[in-house]
Amino acid sequence: MRPVVIGAGPAGLAAAWALCRAGQRPLVLEAQAGPGGLAGSFDLDGFRADYGPHRLHRAASPEVLDLYTAALGGALRERARSGVVHLGGRKLPYPLSLAGLLRGLGLGGAARHGLSALAAQVAKPAGNHFAGEAARRLGRHAARVLYEPAARKVWGVDPTELDVALGAARVQKGSLGAVLRAALSKGKGGGRSFFYPQRGAGDLAEGLADRIRAAGGEIRCATPVEGLVLAGDRVVGVRAAGTSIESDAVVATAPLPLLCRWTGREDAAAGLAFRSLVLLYLTLGIDRGSAHDVHYFADEAIVANRLFEMKGFSGGAGPAGRTLVGFDIPCTVGDAIWTASAEALAARVRPALERAGMGQAPVLGQVAHRIASAYPIYRKGYGPVRDGALDALAEVEGLYPAGRHALYVHDNVHHACAVGLAAGAAAAARRGARSWRAAQGPFLHAQIED
Ligand SMILES: Cc1cc2nc3c(=O)[nH]c(=O)nc-3n(C[C@H](O)[C@H](O)[C@H](O)COP(=O)(O)OP(=O)(O)OC[C@H]3O[C@@H](n4cnc5c(N)ncnc54)[C@H](O)[C@@H]3O)c2cc1C
Repeated sequence: MRPVVIGAGPAGLAAAWALCRAGQRPLVLEAQAGPGGLAGSFDLDGFRADYGPHRLHRAASPEVLDLYTAALGGALRERARSGVVHLGGRKLPYPLSLAGLLRGLGLGGAARHGLSALAAQVAKPAGNHFAGEAARRLGRHAARVLYEPAARKVWGVDPTELDVALGAARVQKGSLGAVLRAALSKGKGGGRSFFYPQRGAGDLAEGLADRIRAAGGEIRCATPVEGLVLAGDRVVGVRAAGTSIESDAVVATAPLPLLCRWTGREDAAAGLAFRSLVLLYLTLGIDRGSAHDVHYFADEAIVANRLFEMKGFSGGAGPAGRTLVGFDIPCTVGDAIWTASAEALAARVRPALERAGMGQAPVLGQVAHRIASAYPIYRKGYGPVRDGALDALAEVEGLYPAGRHALYVHDNVHHACAVGLAAGAAAAARRGARSWRAAQGPFLHAQIED
């Protein structure tokens, strides 16, 4: 019987690739019009646009780098990062440099951060939550001016209500020493470079999809899976497009609460929810907006989390005299951001455009793209609930949850690929559901690269 993979994002495609390598012919069912998931690309105004630009990080394991090479051949380019963090009116280079930190913060500001971080080493700030963890790692001052406002904006929750695990995953430079090492590092250290496919992040998914088809697998897009077919506690198929498709092994990258619902275990995932995102794209009537690829806005006065410019990723590719910039705007399904028109959102992001130095550029067009499940919300105490939900799914033989949404984990593409490869191998061997549950551990605590 053919294994089925739900979702053609990085995790689902990596799983399908592992199934192909094991000599099987998976059927991948994808709800969207094309493969790629969050890491896909699409065409807009002559540009290739990502759903938020996706850097392929150098932290990928050799196995995942091999997967990238198989999918992309020689089309994987190395690029230097050139971001800037806006802290109110101040600008800090990202990746960090000592000169940039001193220039951006001023001597007094840098000393204040340094002393605050040192004080946190001597007397650990209290608080069993994200805000406390950020303060313990980088000092109360950095927590207050950078991490707390960013957390409120990205997750829509007070930082004291967010789990300490989010601090471990997201406060990347986890100590003053790490910040200084990164600021002093040269060459490729300190996250100064990343891989990016030739045309766009989605090349990875499209290349993988081609390899999977060539190996006998099938990818059916615009085919949302509506449920699982169960015989007792065993998966025997999936329901999609009004029909049942038989399968004794289903790798599922759909959201964990949905999988719990499909298996009659809805209560197990109570309280787990995702933060949503609207991506707004503006075509500007200038050749290039900024020397930086991404502008990050920590403060809440700016509605967008980031401004990115696709020419900064594609090495300048795209029509002359125009540039495409995008904004990540966190929100909740149904709220004022989610329901706003692209024109209204363009007015809301104007302060971000101005801070990035593009306030005078004519706006030639705007398009909004909405993503319901972007970030798992790590509310305090989410861990035992997530584990309980995964335990509940492990009672269902033939089901292999994998990826960002099914494992409810903050991750990067390389983590999603790694867990996809492992889930695909487990499904190919028809390993027991509890055995796959036991193997999930390392994938539940990804260290995020920003
Ligand atoms: C704004 C943003 C920027 C990011 N930037 C980076 C970055 O620069 N570098 C990096 O490494 N990582 C980045 N990430 C993380 C990266 O996007 C994820 O790690 C990765 O996409 C997770 O892969 P996945 O396959 O698990 O999930 P997804 O990419 O979300 O894919 C899941 C797929 O399953 C499909 N699906 C869901 N339900 C069903 C159903 N019922 N039936 C059929 N199909 C279904 C979805 O349509 C989707 O295509 C970013 C994430 C976000 C939100």
